Amino acid sequence: MRPLLTAAIVSVGTELTTGVTRDTNSGDVARSLAQAGVVVRRLAALPDDQPALQRVLGEALEEVDLVVTTGGLGPTPDDLTREAIAAVVGETVAVDPEIERWLGELFARRGLPLVEANRKQAWTLPSVTTIPNDNGTAPGWWLDGPDGRVLIALPGPPRELHPMWDGWVRPRLEARGLGRAAAMVTLRTTGLGESLIADRLGELLDRSADPIVATYARADGVDVTITSHDREGWAAAARVAETAAEVDRRLEGHVWGRGPTTWASELAAALDERGWRLAIAEVGTRGALTALLGEGLGERLALAEALAERPAPHGRHAADPEALAARVRDLAGVEAALAMEIRARRGDTVVSIALEDPRGRHRERRVVFLGDDIGRGRAALAAAAVLLARLREPGGDGSGDA
Ligand code: AMP
Ligand code: MG
Repeated sequence: MRPLLTAAIVSVGTELTTGVTRDTNSGDVARSLAQAGVVVRRLAALPDDQPALQRVLGEALEEVDLVVTTGGLGPTPDDLTREAIAAVVGETVAVDPEIERWLGELFARRGLPLVEANRKQAWTLPSVTTIPNDNGTAPGWWLDGPDGRVLIALPGPPRELHPMWDGWVRPRLEARGLGRAAAMVTLRTTGLGESLIADRLGELLDRSADPIVATYARADGVDVTITSHDREGWAAAARVAETAAEVDRRLEGHVWGRGPTTWASELAAALDERGWRLAIAEVGTRGALTALLGEGLGERLALAEALAERPAPHGRHAADPEALAARVRDLAGVEAALAMEIRARRGDTVVSIALEDPRGRHRERRVVFLGDDIGRGRAALAAAAVLLARLREPGGDGSGDA
């Protein structure tokens, strides 16, 4: 039987190509397939246009082992996925009496007649196995296509598609032989732009290399992913681990997390490691750091104070970040405190960070690109990075000693 190693996903509906509805289905299916070690070659969103759909499905059935469509299985004349599939594989539709009966009962239960339009939801083809839909009136299609390829057609509403995919389609695809064992590691970095990272990674980013190393600029840093698939004499997991170690070495301390992690969860783990709680004070950031950490720190964040401007000096006491850190730490009665203050400089943002914890004080100044909301967001990331590095530094109260 043909192994299903490559796939294409086609989302159908004019509501997608006009931007009225966001296509979440193709990404959801792609993620599931990629996790199973399938290489997804293409995601396409198409309007309700039968010739266009036929063209794309025809091409896909020549290019990849598995084609998944979502949408266009409704009862209305603009839902044309069944018609397009029938034309592409050259088969004639027929009403499946069993599905027709099931649909009839479904409508009868609601006191409605089965109108002619609904009858096409009972359609089938000789090479189709219908996929039951417990949450709607559109069954899906599993089609055993030419040369052992498989085409799956699923309805568009995510609440119908997801249970069908997880509960029916995916287990059968797996039983049928889905993907190749794959290994992937994501290293999350901070403090280096994508171009600097590319420079340091050099030949590792070569597109013909295996494992494949790729960079993705994200809102909270640049991710580096390292991916490989098993093949004869090649154990992907071991190779990915080796390459990840090399990437980590070349990025010298700029990697702050692995996999789908967040700043808040890394900071939470680092605080727990030391048994500390945290207080923060931020000036001029409109609460960007508090927003970044969000709910993620839970009870560990004992106090968060956001000030529009640096407070006036209090008697002989300055109100610089160092003094603010000491103040919120005392006020909250916790072990660690961070205060940050930003100011604009020639379009960029200067960030002053003060940390105070049982090991003493730490001050750091950073400049982040751009100002306004982007600058504030990046300033918060810089503060989180400084805090995380400090928490992870060995030494101090014993728990972090190397
Ligand atoms: P359909 O199966 O084409 O009749 O789609 C019915 C409904 O499902 C649409 O009106 C959308 O609300 C939703 N839908 C369809 N396709 C998608 C998609 N690719 N991503 C998210 N929602 C979708
Ligand atoms: Mg539609």
